[in-house]
Amino acid sequence: MKKLIFATHNQNKIQEVKAVFKGFSVVSLADLEYHQDIAETEKTFVGNALVKARHVFELFKLPVFADDSGLEVFALDGAPGIYSARYAGEEKNHTKNNDKLLDALANETNRVAQFKTVIAYKDANTEITFEGIVKGVIAKKTLGSGGFGYDPVFIPEGFDKTFGELPKEIKLHLSHRSLAVGKLHHYLNSIT
Ligand code: IMP
Repeated sequence: MKKLIFATHNQNKIQEVKAVFKGFSVVSLADLEYHQDIAETEKTFVGNALVKARHVFELFKLPVFADDSGLEVFALDGAPGIYSARYAGEEKNHTKNNDKLLDALANETNRVAQFKTVIAYKDANTEITFEGIVKGVIAKKTLGSGGFGYDPVFIPEGFDKTFGELPKEIKLHLSHRSLAVGKLHHYLNSIT
């Protein structure tokens, strides 16, 4: 079975990916006893995902993929973007982030937004990135308690409820991360 490193410390993401990646042995950084944070030094999702994949490839010389995600709000010129986790400060507090976003959009009629994930894959011969996007709008207030991060303020296109209110199966089916992971999976199946 082909061994692949998923360069993340997030156990939820590992479980999600393992469920999809049948036929591959997906190992986490924890499995490799690597517990350090990898600095996200770049200004784009692509740049940050590549930095993480390259860093881990240099250490372990095994095929690896890394991801970077966030929320882009059109009326805010793409903010919070790559700073989504720490939009309201280094403590990375989801409630404060949502409050700051709702304040920033208080008088705004254009509430169009998108979640974006970029996955970077690297092995000895290849470096390639995949993007997943889910479009939607920002609600007027936080609604629902499901999910994490900006889920309680994000209403995906075609729905009238936030990701915080919708069943988690719907989010899993629609999400930016699932789309990017699906593209990576398709690619890996095509080269192995
Ligand atoms: P990460 O790169 O996947 O760790 O995501 C960075 C930040 O983007 C998170 O801390 C959240 O604030 C936001 N984010 C990314 N994906 C989601 C999502 O699916 N729902 C809600 N917020 C998300």
